[in-house]
Amino acid sequence: MPTRGGLVMDFTRMNKVLEIRPHDLQADVQPGVLRKELNRQAGKHGLFFPPDPGADATIGGMIANNASGVQTVKYGATKDYVLRLTVVLPQGDVMYTGCKAGKSSSGYDLTRLFIGSEGTLGVVTEATLRLTGIPSHHLAAIITFDDLESAANAVAVMIGSGLEPAALELLTPELIGLMNREEGLGLSEVPTLFCEFHGISKAALLETSSLARELTESCGGTSFRSGVEEREREDLWRARHDAWETIHRAHQGKETLIVDVAVPISRYPEMVVFSRQLVGERKVTGYVFGHAGDGNLHVVMMGDPGDEEEWSALEDINERIVQRAVELGGTCTGEHGVGIGKRKFMHMEHGRSYQLMRGISALVDPKGLMNPGKIFI
Ligand SMILES: Cc1cc2nc3c(=O)[nH]c(=O)nc-3n(C[C@H](O)[C@H](O)[C@H](O)COP(=O)(O)OP(=O)(O)OC[C@H]3O[C@@H](n4cnc5c(N)ncnc54)[C@H](O)[C@@H]3O)c2cc1C
Repeated sequence: MPTRGGLVMDFTRMNKVLEIRPHDLQADVQPGVLRKELNRQAGKHGLFFPPDPGADATIGGMIANNASGVQTVKYGATKDYVLRLTVVLPQGDVMYTGCKAGKSSSGYDLTRLFIGSEGTLGVVTEATLRLTGIPSHHLAAIITFDDLESAANAVAVMIGSGLEPAALELLTPELIGLMNREEGLGLSEVPTLFCEFHGISKAALLETSSLARELTESCGGTSFRSGVEEREREDLWRARHDAWETIHRAHQGKETLIVDVAVPISRYPEMVVFSRQLVGERKVTGYVFGHAGDGNLHVVMMGDPGDEEEWSALEDINERIVQRAVELGGTCTGEHGVGIGKRKFMHMEHGRSYQLMRGISALVDPKGLMNPGKIFI
């Protein structure tokens, strides 16, 4: 999105999956390939590209934003799946970073430098991605609690136990209530975890599920419903993916301000409680939820940007949540990226490293041509 004019590049026609090498678990792709199309083609070989930001994003956008999502807790983020990039630098030089080997100790990790750079360093024109096998069995569970803190504590305990859920999402009663009304889910309106496990056999999954039940009961879980039918499982994940749209639809005429922070998993419970309390105290319409398994918390707040008092309350809540997340050793953005909105928090989070980032940007792009106005103030 240009902030002061300029050229916009459109990668729509660079949309080819160039090669899939099933034996290497790799694919070479152009940046305009859409995530679902890549997965459709990889699926023919029993493989998939796990990072899933919900939207059918382009691979170039996912790389530039280090996209992640519901299954990151097990499979990792985009950065864990990029082996090699072809990049065009601002002066027009074409270069590649990394290699196609599964590991390398060779020099600076320039591939990771470009991942998450939000188009500020160069243009990705080709990527070699790691793929992984489609899990043969999956099992979904819905776990309820009397209070939010117990639910958030159970998340930390489950992750610490090594159970490796493939997804672990926290939802507050307010959001469940809204999803019930808008999507007809029929769930109890109490703090809830949506959880999914992937495994090589049904027997292994049943064992995992019974361990998860024991653990969550010891954390105050009041019900544990596993083996959710396929149809209901799809409905649940669709509703979770569509949470932002659902909230938006239910509050027509209002704009959303989305908080997106992440903290170490042991600090997740206090982050959740702090955020929900803040929203309640300030009497703001807001919904707390998140990719709990990776300590990622979202608060979607509704307001009118034209109402200065109302909107500044929302911005204040956002700032206080970001500040607390950074104090707890976390980050100002778990997955939505810095862009324009989070620039003001970068120095607070990174300290002197922020200056080094600036220096790298100035070295690679001395004229400031690449996506100016993003990441840096
Ligand atoms: C409401 C909302 C929810 C979101 N939820 C998530 C989420 O759950 N998880 C998540 O990870 N992200 C999320 N995002 C952030 C973002 O939309 C995604 O990461 C997505 O992957 C971006 O892909 P895109 O194709 O839409 O990219 P675009 O929006 O087109 O581009 C994103 C960035 O990548 C740069 N870029 C694009 N292509 C290239 C290229 N070839 N070379 C260099 N730079 C390039 C652009 O300059 C831009 O800075 C969310 C955003 C919004 C607004």
